[in-house]
Amino acid sequence: MTNNCLTLRKNLTFIIFSGKGGVGKTTCACATALHCAKRGQKTLLASTDPAHSLADSLDLPVGRAIGPVDGVDNLYAIEVDAPRSLEQFKQDYGNILKEIANRGTYFDRDDINDFFSLSLPGLDELMGIMTLMDLLESREYDVIVLDTAPTGHTIRLLSLPDHMREWLRVLDLMLEKRRYMASVFAGRYVPDYTDDFIKHMASKVSALKNLLTDHTRTQFIPVIIPEAMSLNETEKLVKTIKNQGIPLTQMIVNRVASDRKCAFCQGRRADQINTLREIDYKFKMLSRVHLPLLPHEVRGISVLTVFAERMVNPDYRGMLDAAATVQTSTVMPIQARLPGKELIEKKYVIIGGKGGVGKTSVAAATGLYLASQGKKTLIFSTDPAHSLSDSFGCSIGNQITSLSGSIQLYGLEIDAQRMLDEFKQQYVEEINEVFNGFLGESGVDVAFDREVMTEIISLIPPGLDEVMALIKLMELSDEKDYDVIILDTAPTGHLIRMLELPELAMKWLHTFFKLVLKYQNGDSLQKTADLMFEMIRGVRKVQSTLVDPDHTGFIGVTVPEAMIVEETEKLLESIQRLGVNSRCLVVNMVTPPNQCYFCNKVQAQQQSYMADLRARFTNYQMSEIPLFPHQVRGIDNLTELARLFG
Ligand SMILES: [Zn+2]
Repeated sequence: MTNNCLTLRKNLTFIIFSGKGGVGKTTCACATALHCAKRGQKTLLASTDPAHSLADSLDLPVGRAIGPVDGVDNLYAIEVDAPRSLEQFKQDYGNILKEIANRGTYFDRDDINDFFSLSLPGLDELMGIMTLMDLLESREYDVIVLDTAPTGHTIRLLSLPDHMREWLRVLDLMLEKRRYMASVFAGRYVPDYTDDFIKHMASKVSALKNLLTDHTRTQFIPVIIPEAMSLNETEKLVKTIKNQGIPLTQMIVNRVASDRKCAFCQGRRADQINTLREIDYKFKMLSRVHLPLLPHEVRGISVLTVFAERMVNPDYRGMLDAAATVQTSTVMPIQARLPGKELIEKKYVIIGGKGGVGKTSVAAATGLYLASQGKKTLIFSTDPAHSLSDSFGCSIGNQITSLSGSIQLYGLEIDAQRMLDEFKQQYVEEINEVFNGFLGESGVDVAFDREVMTEIISLIPPGLDEVMALIKLMELSDEKDYDVIILDTAPTGHLIRMLELPELAMKWLHTFFKLVLKYQNGDSLQKTADLMFEMIRGVRKVQSTLVDPDHTGFIGVTVPEAMIVEETEKLLESIQRLGVNSRCLVVNMVTPPNQCYFCNKVQAQQQSYMADLRARFTNYQMSEIPLFPHQVRGIDNLTELARLFG
């Protein structure tokens, strides 16, 4: 059912927004929170996106601790500091974890803390969400509106409670041996604080699961825009949400273009019509709320308030366009040439940016350009929500696929999860072989050790799959002698995490390796040990390659919108801090001047952000890509884009 407004029951206490980056989920979350506060509910607006944008959207400061939002009664906001929540967790429970490990005797005391915190790199965010849950349970707020990270990240976050359960089960197993011994030799086992800890955490995880699946209290609202890539990603998201049993009844279809007498506006509308039909068909079980494409950003309390009114009031008849005034300014034109020569001698080119800025199109066009210059080129996607196939309009998947008959251009959407599963399976098979060798020997040690050693593989850190993908990339570059490999990466927050992961994976592998060596008497676990040794070597290579300026280059992709400008700055800072060479910034979707009222308003606003970009990134080579009156999809469109390189 297509609906013209969102229904927000007053008894809802937890409203969660998610969607592909750049679709306006933060705007919708902020507007919803304003609406709830305005109708008298004490409202907390929270963000768990590692690349927070609440402050940008409200155009007001938002802290890492809860604080009132200036000028709005009943409204409070927080950008959850996930790493700090994790620190708190370690402070509170670190000693208990050490004690549990000590009793299990599988690890040295020093290893254990690392091992467990490394096993749950999303633990920080989970702790952040649990803090919010505590606030709801204590009835501190009537409603919490949550702005989450882009799709791929959110899917992972929602699987964390299950991961945490697994983790607690292994801890519990570690204690089992001692409990058994105590009951055999002392006649009984008296539970102590270690048991309490496991019980306490397990009950918190259950409470979170209950909250997330409670139809009366919780609602998940995906935000989508009428573009093929957003549609495909949202399909995956909705499937995950449904599987998790999280209540989902409505979705926001944002930025629906209306009919105007202008080639750009008409082109945009024509582009949307098929996708809108597909959205209607694929999400027919959801109530779909259409919101209009606007010529300006929805930013700041007054514009957000009008937007909220439009979002929830079925009788709204006002003019959203009129809500914002646009500052006009003119800037020097930026050169149109895209970075070509700078890349030609590179071995790896990483393309990064916020979701929705056209990263994949830029990656695809870069590939076409380099291949047309005679370079054997592979485009390698590590985004768990792959969109390379969508971009080329063909099916690529988990195998190297030729993308052009005339030039040497190949694509690969790596199935990192499968690589990880194969590694796990290898390990479990070997563990079984080892313990089958002990058959006939008696003793509780063997039985308990077997179980713990088998289960411990489930503590593999989420994200190790992506590191394995990077290792695979290095291997491919050696084996298949590509001249250049282009990395199409996941959105910002995720990308930064992935680049930091080799460090984390390394620590984890070392700790795990020690454990495996303890059991590696004779030839047992030899294959696992070899595999891990190879992985450790691979991780070292990934680390040294990424920071080598002769081999690796980074292209940042952005669009001229205020919120994205802010995020681009954060991204480029992180990239430089990690030591990755980056000098090129591509500004995508720049509206060319034309006669249309709507387009002109868009253009005026964009020009002011272009000026901002130029002021901020003085040491970058900036180039711009004009907005096309159609989506850039398929080899013909991409080739047109590739002509801008040189
Ligand atoms: Zn127009």
